[in-house]
Amino acid sequence: MSPPTVSLVRCSDYASERVMDAVRQAVALLGGMEAFVQPGQKVLLKPNLVRGMEPNRAVTTHPTIVAAVARLVREAGGVPLIAESPGGPYSAPALRLAYRRSGMVRAAEEGGAELNYDTASSQVSHPEGQVLHRLDLIQPLLEADVVINLPKLKTHNLTVLTLGVKNLFGLVPGSLKISYHAKLVDREMFGEAMLDILTFARPTLTLMDAIVGMEGEGPSGGDPREIGAIVAGADCLAVDTVCAALVGVPPQDVLTTRLAVARGIITGRIEDIDMVGEDLASLVVPDFRGGIEAPIDPGLFPRPMRLLIQWLAPSPNGAENDSRGTSAMRLFTSGWMWRQLVARPQATKECIACSFCVKHCPVDAIEIIDGRALMDSKTCVRCYCCHELCPHDAISLSKPLLGRLLLPR
Ligand code: SF4
Ligand code: SF4
Repeated sequence: MSPPTVSLVRCSDYASERVMDAVRQAVALLGGMEAFVQPGQKVLLKPNLVRGMEPNRAVTTHPTIVAAVARLVREAGGVPLIAESPGGPYSAPALRLAYRRSGMVRAAEEGGAELNYDTASSQVSHPEGQVLHRLDLIQPLLEADVVINLPKLKTHNLTVLTLGVKNLFGLVPGSLKISYHAKLVDREMFGEAMLDILTFARPTLTLMDAIVGMEGEGPSGGDPREIGAIVAGADCLAVDTVCAALVGVPPQDVLTTRLAVARGIITGRIEDIDMVGEDLASLVVPDFRGGIEAPIDPGLFPRPMRLLIQWLAPSPNGAENDSRGTSAMRLFTSGWMWRQLVARPQATKECIACSFCVKHCPVDAIEIIDGRALMDSKTCVRCYCCHELCPHDAISLSKPLLGRLLLPR
């Protein structure tokens, strides 16, 4: 099998012409948009909109990137549609707000794309899925001939970085994402589910907005960080591998990449990727600030504890130790010890008691008390939906003392 090709192009800012040139070059290095899109095909463009924030916050895929890709799709004769299910309700008014705030209205106008307002979804069978054999997905995905994945490079508390694979979680409609979080009780299962969505959606092209990424408390509460790159490829996992290396994160530290290596669908090594364009070393950000670590990751523990956790952990292939592993793991992850190790969400004084987090917590762990959201630490499963979705950035993540001592990253 030939190695996947990934293109890397320098782009210093979001000036429209510069982005257009860089995107065109990144795609040309892969054979041009004609290699991905045939005339007349319906092309779904999937940006990361999270909860629709202004582009300069570096939370969402920048509109100039989306506009540039839409233009290339048009030039190739395709019909581009921008579609995404951000966090929160999947309704036409919520989409309108997210599109307006994130600049997608402008992107659609400039790129000649339509914006999706159809909030229908369907449940589909995915026999090859490893933890999800049925998937609930937004209708435009199911009707598209081609999917182009347009993620934003950011830190993420569950997956370490949110890249191409994690961006596809936005194909699950609205509040159903919350039930997925509740159902996928540990981090490994969540990562496997992301890979199941990838193997169903099969994006034809992934083009990463890594011009300005997010470091620190991502995916929505961190700080913008200039990286200056566009990374593209037909293999989403290869793009993710390069993007991790770009910000100095060992690619296999990214949950979805590590699990993909275990599945044998990528090696997770830069040496196994055919890099074209800029020299990767010339663009690496040496001091990129990671996010706050979230739930159980055996890789973070001292070796004896790691071996114990790995022995207890359920096999993704449904091997016979699953019931023992699942129940032991759940016991551990719901117990006192776990709560002492992982970050817990807390509302800050910026909280205005709007109850948005209350409505979207998958396990009803939040109440409004004395004009502020209060998270019940015992009920909370540390999915961090509230942190990701709070419209007022009023939720911080703080690790208990034991967690800071034992898991300092
Ligand atoms: S924490 Fe955020 S989402 Fe929750 S009630 Fe406060 S302001 Fe609203
Ligand atoms: S309180 Fe926040 S982190 Fe905890 S389960 Fe609810 S949404 Fe998830």
